[in-house]
Amino acid sequence: MKALFYGGPGEKSWTDVSDPVILHPTDAIVRIDTTTICGTDLHILKGDVPAVQAGRILGHEGVGTVTDVGSSVGSLRRGDRVVISCIKSCGHCGNCRKGMFSHCLGDEGQSGTGWIFGHLIDGTQAEFVRVPYAENSLHKLPPGVTDDEAVMLSDILPTAFEIGVQAGHVAPEDVVGIVGAGSIGLAAMEAVGVPEICRNPHD
Ligand SMILES: [Zn+2]
Ligand SMILES: [Zn+2]
Repeated sequence: MKALFYGGPGEKSWTDVSDPVILHPTDAIVRIDTTTICGTDLHILKGDVPAVQAGRILGHEGVGTVTDVGSSVGSLRRGDRVVISCIKSCGHCGNCRKGMFSHCLGDEGQSGTGWIFGHLIDGTQAEFVRVPYAENSLHKLPPGVTDDEAVMLSDILPTAFEIGVQAGHVAPEDVVGIVGAGSIGLAAMEAVGVPEICRNPHD
């Protein structure tokens, strides 16, 4: 398959690599139909994330179609359209049970550790990707949702909602300031349906 291959800081190439295969019974293989470039990928390419080793396939967001499932995956089947969570989580460890999916402890000798796609394992800027803990890391899409809409749920909108709205304890009628309204700041506004945006504090 073709994939975006990270060759070290400042080096990337769209190149031929081996197709991913099922490694654990909880895995699924997904054909990527839509993916994105995240600001995190740009940090990786600048060399700001040294945990990402040369040879890694980048990307952690995507929408795709299931092409294979491991032996213990019962809730997904070939042909399912899914949105891929940027966070991998087993769904049953102590941290997952507390709803802290990004701090998943994992099992089966594989680390959960939240964001691992395009970081510690190969990612979604490729024709296919292996998804660990597929039942808890993939979400089936209803027919009316387009790929372009769904991919916003892979990382950016939930990140903005969790960090900007939930963790910020933002409630209806609150007046808040968003410092640095980049993609996450704009997504936080979108997530709460801000009716009026004062783009300049002096307006
Ligand atoms: Zn992202
Ligand atoms: Zn877990």
